[in-house]
Amino acid sequence: MILLDGKKTSNDIQDEIAFEVSQIRSSGLRRPHLAAILVGSDGASETYVNAKVAACKRVGFQSTLLNFDSDISEEELLFQIDSVNKDQEIDGLIVQLPLPNHIDEMKITQAINPAKDVDGFHPLNIGKMTLGLPTYLPATPAGILELISRYNIETSGKHCVVVGRSHIVGAPMSILMSQNSNLGNCTVTLTHSKTKNLTSITRKADILIVALGKAEFVTSDMVKDGVCIIDVGITRVESDVTKNGWKLLGDVDFDKVKSKCSFITPVPGGVGPMTIAMLLRNTLISAKR
Ligand code: NDP
Repeated sequence: MILLDGKKTSNDIQDEIAFEVSQIRSSGLRRPHLAAILVGSDGASETYVNAKVAACKRVGFQSTLLNFDSDISEEELLFQIDSVNKDQEIDGLIVQLPLPNHIDEMKITQAINPAKDVDGFHPLNIGKMTLGLPTYLPATPAGILELISRYNIETSGKHCVVVGRSHIVGAPMSILMSQNSNLGNCTVTLTHSKTKNLTSITRKADILIVALGKAEFVTSDMVKDGVCIIDVGITRVESDVTKNGWKLLGDVDFDKVKSKCSFITPVPGGVGPMTIAMLLRNTLISAKR
């Protein structure tokens, strides 16, 4: 079994980005600049945004964190997004999801200038991705492709099963894995909560990408020997052995499943750090443009 070390791979990519930033700086240009919008004070969202801001610092990007109260109106939030869209000094904008119920997430996503949409969630960028045109790939799927690439995992002709069909992970992942490209050419089965006999499908997977958000959902009997598993899930569960009282679990029962795998991502330290690396890379691409 080979562990797909997202933390190390992400650090390698961040070193490469930091080198590019130093070259940009030495040619007299300004640093790439990422703006992040956080609404409210949800613990997990705050943790994710802070990790993104810290990563910006590490690679030499400028970052701006715009933190609004949870009762901000949709209109005011749209106004703030418009200001960032117009700001020539900002290359990328992300809005941390989820947003409070009174705000329409799709409306907010569509308000972001597609040229600054470094999360790759805008319908225009999703459309380009679907057609295989150059664009910002959504950060988590892009991070998974990068892991597959850097560990030289063969995809062509393989059966890839994706569990979960969200707009940000499962659906784009299924499209990318089926595309006629170096890291695609899989035969893909996309599964979701209405899928019948899930185990009979996951047992046929050569590559299993799991993104449903249920801790340790995939058990040893659900996979075949030699499978490559990408575990996207992150769930906080209570723990009496950690200082903060919680720990993170993936969607896969790692300890029980790992002996059957050719490759597997850990949680934490797998897909999560890769998502951040891809966000930085998208911001660098935007700055270079
Ligand atoms: P969503 O909640 O948006 O989607 C979950 C998907 O799982 C849905 O399509 C749902 O089906 C499907 N599902 C739920 N139950 C089952 C089941 N029993 N069998 C099969 N499919 C099921 O989740 P996200 O994609 O946003 O996130 C998934 C997980 O990944 C979460 O833990 C999240 O925290 C994590 N995540 C991690 C990231 C990272 O960087 N590592 C980035 C983004 C997310 P249906 O459509 O029918 O409801």
